[in-house]
Amino acid sequence: MAFVSKKNLPASLAARMAPVCIAVTADDSATLFARAEQALAESTFLELRLDGLINPDSALHGPHTMQAFTQKHPEALVLATCRRIEGGGAFMGRATNQLMLLLKFAQAGAGLVDVELETLEAIAPEMFADFNRQVQEAGAEVLVSAHDFEKTGDLAAILERLRTHSQLRPPAIFKVVSTATSLADNLPLLRLIEEADVPVVGICMGPAGLPSRVLALRSGAPFTFATPRGGEVTGSGQVSAELLTQEYRATAVTDATQLYGVVGNPVAHSLSPALHNAAFRAAGIDAIYLPLHTTDLPGLLDLVHGLPVSGLSITMPWKVQILPHLAELDPLARKIGAVNTVMRRADGSLYGTNTDAAAIVEPLAQRLALPGARILLAGAGGAARAAAFALRNAGASVAILNRTRAAAEALAKESDSTVADADALGRFDAVINATPAGMMGSGFETLLPVPESALDGSPVVFEMVYRPLETPLVTAARQRGLRVIDGLEMFAHQGARQWALWTSLEPPIEVMRTALETALRI
Ligand code: NAP
Repeated sequence: MAFVSKKNLPASLAARMAPVCIAVTADDSATLFARAEQALAESTFLELRLDGLINPDSALHGPHTMQAFTQKHPEALVLATCRRIEGGGAFMGRATNQLMLLLKFAQAGAGLVDVELETLEAIAPEMFADFNRQVQEAGAEVLVSAHDFEKTGDLAAILERLRTHSQLRPPAIFKVVSTATSLADNLPLLRLIEEADVPVVGICMGPAGLPSRVLALRSGAPFTFATPRGGEVTGSGQVSAELLTQEYRATAVTDATQLYGVVGNPVAHSLSPALHNAAFRAAGIDAIYLPLHTTDLPGLLDLVHGLPVSGLSITMPWKVQILPHLAELDPLARKIGAVNTVMRRADGSLYGTNTDAAAIVEPLAQRLALPGARILLAGAGGAARAAAFALRNAGASVAILNRTRAAAEALAKESDSTVADADALGRFDAVINATPAGMMGSGFETLLPVPESALDGSPVVFEMVYRPLETPLVTAARQRGLRVIDGLEMFAHQGARQWALWTSLEPPIEVMRTALETALRI
C-alpha cells in the first residue's frame, strides 16, 4: 500500500511539503500575495501562477514581492510556476527568459520551481543541468512537468521524455498531467504514479479526472493540487482543497478505504456525495463517495473493476443503459427496466437494483394504507415507472396522467394501471408528481403537474422535485392543509436504501437529510 509518499524526495523538501498544494492566481502581485496569505489557512504548500500576472517581474520588485512573502511566512513552501504559452500558460517570454525568472523566484524564497517539457525540449540538456544546479544553490528544487490538454496518451513515454531531457541533473519531482476523456483514463495515471521509481505527481484534468485528484496520494504521489476556498479555477476539473480533504478525504484514503460513486452526465451538482459521505463519516466507516462524470460505460466499468469501486448510484442518463452490463438484477428493477443502485460483489460481478421504488412506497405507506389506495401518478418516464410498478406491487391502484398520452397508455398496460382522464379525474388518496413540472431550470417552474382540482379530497401529495423544495404543487397542497412528501424525503430514502445495501447497516437517515438540506442551501 502507498500513502502520501515522500519516497526519494530531498529531505529538506519533504520536511516542508504538505499533501495538498493550493494553486493561487491573480493578475497583479498585490492580489496574488493577498490570496496566498488567505490560502495559507488551508495549506502551507502553495503554487503561485506567476504567468497569470500581467507583469511577472512585479512579484520580484515592488511593494508586493515573493521575498517579502516568504520572509513573512517561513512556514510556506511556494511552488513558482510561470508557464509559457507553448506549455499551456500565459507567459510570452522565451525559454531562457522563463528560466532566468524562475531562478530569481527561487533566490527570492520559492522552494520549488516548475519547468515544463516544452521548455526542456527548447534548451540543451546542459542548460537545464546548470539551471537546476543554480536553483539548488539557492536552496530550492526543480519540478519538471508535462501537460496534455486533450487526452490521456502514453504516459510512460511522456515521463520518459521528461527524464531524458533532465537526466544530466535530475529534478526532485516529475509532474504528469493529462486530460481524462473517459473515467478509464484515471487508471494509467494512477498506475504511473504507483510504479515510477522517482517521485511523480499526476492528475487527469476534466470532470472525469476527479478520481485521480482524490486517489493520487493513495498511489504514492507526494502531493496533489487543489484550488483555494472561493478561489479561481485554473484548470479544468479542479476541486477546492476543502472539498478534496473534508468531503473526499483525499489525505486519509488508503488501500483499505472503500470507494463508491454516483454515475451520471452531468453529475457535478448531484446531492448524492453529500448524503453518502455524511453517512459514512457518521458511522465511522472508512469509505468515500465521489461524483463519477461518465461519458461512456466501458470507461466506467474499467474504473469500477480497476480501482475497484464497491458500489454505485446511477443517475441520468445511465439508469437504463447500464442494464446489459449487470450480471444480476432484482426482479422489481427488471420490471421497472431501470436501476439506480449497483453493488460490486466479492467475485467482481455487478448486481443492480432500484431503490427509487422503495423510496416512493415507504414514505407513502407511512401516511396511508396502500392496499386498495387510489393513486394519481403524473408522468410516464423513469421515475413514474418505478412508482407504477412499486405501487401496484404494494396493492394500490394507479391512474397515470401524462403529457404524452401514448406513453401513459404504454406504462398503464405494462404495469396493470389505468390512464387518467384530465377532464374527469375523480377522487384520489394520493397525488404523485413524477414530472419535472415545478423544477428550477426546467422551463416549467410555475406549472402544476395535475389540474388543481385533483388535489381536492386527496389527503396526501408526493412531490418528487426537490429543487426547489417548495414547488407550486407543494404550495397548493399546503394551502389545502394536505400532507406533503417532498422530493428531499424521497431522495434521502433512495440514498438510505443504497447505503444499507452496501454496508448492511441501519442508515443514519437524519444525518443524511441534514446533509442534503445543507447541500441544497449551498
Ligand atoms: P424522465 O424519464 O425524463 O420523464 C419525465 C416525465 O415527465 C415524462 O413522462 C414527461 O412526459 C413528463 N414531462 C416532462 N416535461 C413535462 C411538462 N412540462 N409537463 C408535464 N409533463 C412533463 O424523468 P424522470 O427520471 O422520470 O424524472 C422525473 C422527475 O422526478 C424529475 O424532476 C426528477 O428530478 C424527479 N426525480 C426525483 C427523485 C428523488 O429522489 N426525489 C428521483 C427520481 C426522479 P412525456 O412523456 O410527454 O415526455
